[in-house]
Amino acid sequence: KNLSRHFSTSRFAMAPISKETDFLVIGGGSGGLGAARQASRQYGVKAMIVESARLGGTCVNVGCVPKKVTFNAAAIAETIHQAKSYGFSVQETAPFDWSSFKTKRDAYIKRLNGIYERNLQNDKVEYVHGWAKLLSPNSAEITLDDGTKTVVNAKKILLAMGGRPTTPPHIAGSELGINSDGFFDIATLPKKVALVGAGYIAVEFAGMFNALGVETHLFIRYDTFLRTFDPMIQEKVVKEYERLGIHLHKRSAISSVKKDESTGKLTLDFKEGDAHGSISDVDHLIWAIGRTAQTDNAGLENSGVKLTETGHIVVDKFQNTNVENVYALGDVTGAVELTPVAIAAGRRLANRLFGPKEFEALHLDYSNIPSVVFAHPEVGSIGLTEPQAVEKYGRENLKIYNTSFTAMYYAMMEPEEKGPTSYKLICAGPEEKVVGLHIMGLGSGEMLQGFGVAVKMGATKRDFDNCVAIHPTSAEELVTLK
Ligand code: FAD
Ligand code: NDP
Repeated sequence: KNLSRHFSTSRFAMAPISKETDFLVIGGGSGGLGAARQASRQYGVKAMIVESARLGGTCVNVGCVPKKVTFNAAAIAETIHQAKSYGFSVQETAPFDWSSFKTKRDAYIKRLNGIYERNLQNDKVEYVHGWAKLLSPNSAEITLDDGTKTVVNAKKILLAMGGRPTTPPHIAGSELGINSDGFFDIATLPKKVALVGAGYIAVEFAGMFNALGVETHLFIRYDTFLRTFDPMIQEKVVKEYERLGIHLHKRSAISSVKKDESTGKLTLDFKEGDAHGSISDVDHLIWAIGRTAQTDNAGLENSGVKLTETGHIVVDKFQNTNVENVYALGDVTGAVELTPVAIAAGRRLANRLFGPKEFEALHLDYSNIPSVVFAHPEVGSIGLTEPQAVEKYGRENLKIYNTSFTAMYYAMMEPEEKGPTSYKLICAGPEEKVVGLHIMGLGSGEMLQGFGVAVKMGATKRDFDNCVAIHPTSAEELVTLK
């Protein structure tokens, strides 16, 4: 009964599970799907993918996709607000209807789950909904939703189990908070939220809440957030978040969380610098303090696969683990935790393992990976930060170009409505090779991909300058830097 509920649309999964397969992929997220589909579609490999939750993994269900849709809603809220500067008389008669928005967003994700399942069918990948646990380097026990267990023998096994939000520190009441998974369950527009963390997720969520009119408190441990980014990005985005009215609690730590049982609202006590503070009537506290590799109860000890000190699976650049015929990629390895990285690693691995001989040295190059934080404004970054470039090349071998300006979009707006734009180019050596590019401002997310191609190809400042500007855009400033 359970089986038919889960597999009702899958003609493959209705069939009994194969006992033997060539390529067993554990985890139906970005990386697992990328590898399994490529292996089966491209090379006719008998591949099986096991997923315990919803197809598509973190990105599709509780990550990039619903996040970006919510970011779009926040961007529309900003546009509505700004429209009057362009002569529109837009009346905001009611607050954002989060509930209907969420219903539509959930339906979209459900459609995507179905599309992913059909893609597996089309590519002839055997899809099993269940929990996989290694029994040895070439076998796994799969527990289906009805509790039935099947042992599958595999010639090769890929571990693509992803990660989960890191558990908050042990402080009184920390369990009253939620994490990024819980963010996507929020059913109504909150009035007041608190977030803890200083990475992509905390910064993205805080920006979205604030743009949607929610009183937003962001608790960070140091003076800036996004501390792995270039200092220019840290400084400018922090300044902009403060200007936008986000309550940024620097050098802070939550000391206790209490819930009012009658209202469900939270009171947070915290330390901020040397002072103590408290906020009450908080609808949601969201912990966004990083992610932990999902390796629990996966039988890794039965295979001898080694883990790092942080609990990630150890791999070489070919995604080989220390055990022959067992591979790992994506978030479970703790490499750059981005969806396109997991997909690219998965496809390259499938090409290397099952493709022609000339593919046998294929692997993903983890350098110069572009990445965007969907902050307010968007942040884009590729290559080295300034401190990293100084360490690698020496300050005397670098030339750094900076520009800060107001995008033309804001020309019609009052000073208090104008957002910042800042770009930085880090060039190394006499040929001024571009080794770092950091941008923040309207449209940076879409802008970065093209510049990413140039940097990946080894472009120099001269190459940038040789490309005629597109006017009037913000991007043109990157090819006219003095
Ligand atoms: P996952 O996608 O996590 O897939 C792993 C799958 O394995 C899961 O579905 C899990 O259920 C399954 N699984 C685990 N153990 C077992 C087992 N034993 N048996 C069966 N199944 C198992 N990246 C971007 O590039 N851009 C973004 O904008 C972006 N936004 C994000 C926003 C949020 C809130 C979060 C949390 C992440 C975001 N990411 C983004 C990161 C991105 O989602 C991940 O890097 C990506 O999903 C990693 O893919 P993966 O295949 O390694 O793991
Ligand atoms: P990150 O690793 O990006 O950031 C988490 C940060 O939280 C840490 O760097 C640390 O910053 C801070 N932190 C850690 N522990 C604590 C603590 N106990 N109390 C307060 N702060 C703490 O993790 P995220 O959870 O934000 O995101 C996980 C990953 O998912 C990202 O690294 C990214 O790869 C991916 N992602 C990508 C997105 C995109 O591409 N747009 C969007 C969302 C996620 P500090 O040391 O400064 O305190």
